Amino acid sequence: MRIFSGIQPTGRKHLGNYIGAIRQYVEGQGRGDPAIYCVVDLHAISVPYDPAELRERVHDTTAILLAAGLDPERCLLFRQSDVREHTELTWLLSSVTAVGELNRMHQFRDKSAQQRELQSAALLFYPVLMAADVLAYRAHEVPVGEDQREHLELMRDVARRFNARFGELLVVPEPRIPEVGARVMDLQEPERKMSTTGGTEQGTVLVLDEPEAIVKKVRSAVTDSGREVVRAPDKPGVSNLIEILSVVRGVAPETVEREFDGAGYGAFKQAVADALVEWLSPVRERYRELRADPGELERVLAAGAERARELAGPTVADVREAMGFGPPRG
Ligand code: ATP
Ligand code: MG
Repeated sequence: MRIFSGIQPTGRKHLGNYIGAIRQYVEGQGRGDPAIYCVVDLHAISVPYDPAELRERVHDTTAILLAAGLDPERCLLFRQSDVREHTELTWLLSSVTAVGELNRMHQFRDKSAQQRELQSAALLFYPVLMAADVLAYRAHEVPVGEDQREHLELMRDVARRFNARFGELLVVPEPRIPEVGARVMDLQEPERKMSTTGGTEQGTVLVLDEPEAIVKKVRSAVTDSGREVVRAPDKPGVSNLIEILSVVRGVAPETVEREFDGAGYGAFKQAVADALVEWLSPVRERYRELRADPGELERVLAAGAERARELAGPTVADVREAMGFGPPRG
């Protein structure tokens, strides 16, 4: 079972990333053969960015992943741009990608609407690069949050179309989306997902937030005028907090509902805040130590990239040959 997933180096990774993705990455180390995780810096240039800052944010994100429990002995961890196979395969796969499908992607629609100065072609091409990321490793499983389901579907179409046209060379991967916590919502605007680029400042709990900030954000989370701690379509704020607490405690949402039956929102929010502080504090502390040694972070990334090239190289060589590039191999 080969596992692959990528995360953007925005450096401000939030609770949604942690619950929807990073938590699954850590768990995947025990199952993946191998588990491959990638800091996708090439994806980050699809929106306005600063080159010097990008370099720093790669280190931030790498340190967060290590602090959360990724172990370079048990997984591959590398920087996307260090492995050129990703970009070459992107171009090759673009020939079996329908532009109409790219155009329909919700992320493209949402993010391009926010771009005032330039709507980059990179934003449109993002899912092709993402398909190349995964397909280069012939991965079977892709742990992601709910928002990536659409990109995974497109990736599966691309792989199927390639295989039908050029021969069965690519693995059609399956998404792995957690049952609870696949879509953590913004605490201030619980109708939209917690997000790096789109959310509200107060509604976004960062993995590296100090305890006081976490408590403040959770306490001021938008709920509703009732006092029932239950999940319901007309109670998106409370439902979100119930899911968060159930993930942090490792229990079913029903268990949380039962425990806080009749307790009121104040006590419930305090419990969520306390649980989050306890859960995230060790990560923040380990992060500080790891982030202080960028040389070591670079060594981890370089070693990961070397192993990644050994896996991606043969796939891209097969794809090149099947598509008619270079002399035939013996
Ligand atoms: P952006 O909003 O700029 O796209 P992001 O917050 O989605 O950034 P990414 O690096 O694109 O961050 O996503 C990393 C992983 O985190 C992906 O697997 C994605 O599905 C997951 N994820 C992102 N937001 C959430 C969320 N609110 N709830 C659960 N999972 C999430
Ligand atoms: Mg995203």
